[in-house]
Amino acid sequence: MRAGVAMGEFNCLKAPKEDYGTLKNYIDGEWVEATTDRTLDVENPATGEIIGKVPLSPAADMEAAIKAANDAYWDWRSTPPIVRARYMFKIKDLLEKNFEEISRVATQEHGKHIDEARGETRRAIENVETAAGIPTMMMGYHLEDGAAKNIDEMVVRQPMGVFGHIAPFNFPGMVPYWFWPYALATGNTFILKPSEQTPITLQRTFEVLEDADLPPGVFNLVNGDKTAADAMLDSPDVQGVTFVGSTPVGKHIYARCGETGKRCIAQAGAKNFLTVMPDAEIDRAMPNMMASFFGNSGQRCLAGANLVAVGDIYDELKEKFVAAASKLKVGPGLDESCQMGPVISAKSVERIHGYIEGAVKQGARLILDGRGVEVPGYEGGHWVGPTILDDSTPEMTHCQEEIFGPVASIIRVADLEEAIRITNASPFGNSASIYTQSGRVARTFQYKCQAGNIGVNLGIPAPMAYFPFAGQKDSFFGNMHGQGSDVVQFFTDSKVLIIRW
Ligand code: NAD
Repeated sequence: MRAGVAMGEFNCLKAPKEDYGTLKNYIDGEWVEATTDRTLDVENPATGEIIGKVPLSPAADMEAAIKAANDAYWDWRSTPPIVRARYMFKIKDLLEKNFEEISRVATQEHGKHIDEARGETRRAIENVETAAGIPTMMMGYHLEDGAAKNIDEMVVRQPMGVFGHIAPFNFPGMVPYWFWPYALATGNTFILKPSEQTPITLQRTFEVLEDADLPPGVFNLVNGDKTAADAMLDSPDVQGVTFVGSTPVGKHIYARCGETGKRCIAQAGAKNFLTVMPDAEIDRAMPNMMASFFGNSGQRCLAGANLVAVGDIYDELKEKFVAAASKLKVGPGLDESCQMGPVISAKSVERIHGYIEGAVKQGARLILDGRGVEVPGYEGGHWVGPTILDDSTPEMTHCQEEIFGPVASIIRVADLEEAIRITNASPFGNSASIYTQSGRVARTFQYKCQAGNIGVNLGIPAPMAYFPFAGQKDSFFGNMHGQGSDVVQFFTDSKVLIIRW
């Protein structure tokens, strides 16, 4: 394992600021202090240094944002769709102008490599671009004489009111964009609650977006934890909640929305299987596999977790996989020469170590150990290097549960049927990938696998903005998914007009 270079060698690569102070909420077009003394430290995970404090807003602050969003709703929904689309163009322009800075803040508070942060910001902007097509995306349909002779029938899609989003820590500058641009473009108003672990990217984004001159109350930001989230879930004035995060919290949010009659999209945790067939082009696929398992330090809902070696590919695959992973350079995300950053927190390091120790106790063989990796000059960072557990079997805990760190488990199977069987036996169904040169094999895999996003010769099957971000089983609760036309349906209601003159 090569560790990252010392600070002096790249100190020209700076984060935008060293300390962001105590973050504020953005409610009704104004920056306001949260009405609480409860705060959490926000850390730079590469250094362990505190770079800001996030207020844990009480329910009253969320209620103030909901009131502002409700008050703003009727004017906003009666703003013509083409005018709302123009706001999306303005927002895109502002994000492009501040692209590098926003990406650097995401790296600073999350730890990911700067290229991954840039990729994240790009995906965010693509959602704004897609939402700019709202005049055609939210059109209804019309049938002349649809009800009877001289009685026409049509469907219009209408916005519904106030919606909200509860965000995860791992893509602070992208995941919320699967929702809010579409909510605003369809004529709803919105409240965003960032993850309390990575709230600064969105704080900075709201500062940038002030120049878009959205009407006050249309787009609000409330920092906090469960307390603020629950106030959103319980409010009768919120029509629906979108959530991305872990499965236990996703289940809670989906159930609570059911109790209060709200619409809900809850995209949840994952444990993704990557199957490698004997005919796979391993050398070509290896960089892609590295990105899947170790990119974003494994903290990605589409990350590879279980590497399934089919038949006699096992020896060659294992050897090349370990060799490639051993070469990944671990270090701070702003150092472009590194390939893998830290994980989010000391608690996360502890949890990942626990899974590794548990795996060894259950009989897996640790053939690459990322514990104790050192990054000179960054001793306070939360480091775990690429880790590989051979001789893993599907029923072992580390193959079943989401570790959310740079840990790969190698599982040997006899054939494609067995690979599909163990993939489908997982409680999760976020994504599944196969590496093969056979179209017939790939088709069988994509047809039978119970996962929402399927990759063929791709280890991170991330849907573009104009496709739904799918998910099945314990990875998803709801019926409409984030992004594209699915989420436009989620944010609008069908009204049927039956008309005789
Ligand atoms: P998390 O569930 O801990 O937190 C997510 C959000 O929920 C945060 O904003 C948090 O404040 C809030 N929250 C936590 N407990 C709550 C409660 N009891 N009631 C209401 N709100 C609560 O998730 P995380 O650790 O921030 O994110 C990582 C998880 O997100 C992983 O499981 C990952 O797989 C998942 N994820 C899924 C997708 C997807 O599309 N399926 C995408 C990205 C991340």
